[in-house]
Amino acid sequence: MKKGTVYSIMTAISLFGVMAILSPGCSNENSVALNASTSEDVKTRSSSDVSYHEPQFVANELLVKFKPGVSTSVRDSALSHISGSIAEKILTHAMKRSGDKEGFLLVNTPKGVLNAIGLLKKLDAVEYAEPNYIYTTDAIPDDSYFANDSLWGMYGASTFPANQYGCNAATAWAAGHTGSSDVYVGIIDEGYMYTHEDLAANAGINPGEIPDNKIDDDGNGYVDDVYGWNFAGNNNKIFDASLDDHGTHVAGTIGAVGNNGKGVAGVCWSVKLLSGKFMGRKGGTTADAVKAIDYFTALKKAGLNIVATNNSWSGGDYSQALYDAIERANAAGILFIAAAGNNAWNCDKMPCYPASYTNSNIISVAAITSSGELPYYSNYGLTSVDIAAPGSGIISCVPQVIKGKTFSGYASSDGTSMAAPHVTGAVALYLSTHPGATASEIINAILSSAIPTALLSGKCVTGGRLNVGGF
Ligand code: CA
Repeated sequence: MKKGTVYSIMTAISLFGVMAILSPGCSNENSVALNASTSEDVKTRSSSDVSYHEPQFVANELLVKFKPGVSTSVRDSALSHISGSIAEKILTHAMKRSGDKEGFLLVNTPKGVLNAIGLLKKLDAVEYAEPNYIYTTDAIPDDSYFANDSLWGMYGASTFPANQYGCNAATAWAAGHTGSSDVYVGIIDEGYMYTHEDLAANAGINPGEIPDNKIDDDGNGYVDDVYGWNFAGNNNKIFDASLDDHGTHVAGTIGAVGNNGKGVAGVCWSVKLLSGKFMGRKGGTTADAVKAIDYFTALKKAGLNIVATNNSWSGGDYSQALYDAIERANAAGILFIAAAGNNAWNCDKMPCYPASYTNSNIISVAAITSSGELPYYSNYGLTSVDIAAPGSGIISCVPQVIKGKTFSGYASSDGTSMAAPHVTGAVALYLSTHPGATASEIINAILSSAIPTALLSGKCVTGGRLNVGGF
């Protein structure tokens, strides 16, 4: 069970102002002037705290799934072994639709978590018992944006400006391929600033929900889930300026509006973003991650064209509950784009979850720098990591709080957290130009168009970097 230590990285994004003047030409996203002076009025987050430790989980909580048909008395007896009490029964719509009538239980126990799991695993009635793991974002602070040319991750070898290690989105844009408002993407992360000047036009809404009528109009179990749902807070507030810079940064790389004379440009200039917020100040848990994944699965089953979720987070250890949720998404045709993690290790030997699950809908994404290197922090793996995408010196959207007011800001950040959303944007871009493409066709398009890259050789399945120039 224990795979070793996990390297946890707290998010910290340095804030600064960015002004971009975008010319009408599709491929010219260059004239970005940086104002790097950080005012004391600007909110700053804690600095990074890099440390090695065991997989983290919520104290005195377990996820327990009993085998189908186990009687209440047998369950009660099992839980009595650990002095356990049921805190929550988790049975999502997606679980029910997949034929699971019982879901799993969030159980409180006064005993140590690993001790309690050991006791439960001896019982025949128990399908699984596991910790409620804590996941953290895969971003690390970056102060090197001076050295990088603004949106290098969107450029290609023949764009202006050029950066051959970018994902070449600018070439697709020049061909008129800039996304579609018919394509939805789920952001499983912190929340995001859906009012941001560079995101508002691409803020998706749940079409089945009437805002603020205090009724679950679409019957999905969530009341007034217009922009998504906050699983960490169990409410519909998916943006908090003091918490959601990582989620907003991810959103901007996927789908900041391009060619609007503001800020930055995402891989898709037109897309619909929905929030599955499951991270709070202390990270997110397995129980909430499962609910967030199932939320999008159920929305897709209800008819929304959700092509992928972006998952720029990691932690914990193998979780059957999380694997099962990703598999329900797979069955619904939703891709699961995952940051490979920032542990600087070989995932073939030391898994990093969720990127390392074997579900066929996962694309595991390493980072690449603007000079074509695998950055020091990025995980890799010849069989377990699929592709690399721009991850260092990535400028995107963030909320900026000045004197208590929230403004649209921009910041640079590093991490596989920043690489994954380039791929998620690529998936959405591909579907926009290939309507009706299946999940496996999209994965094949992403992987087969990767450009072999010397310093990635032997480091990932494709040995290459993301290339959406032909999308
Ligand atoms: Ca609803």
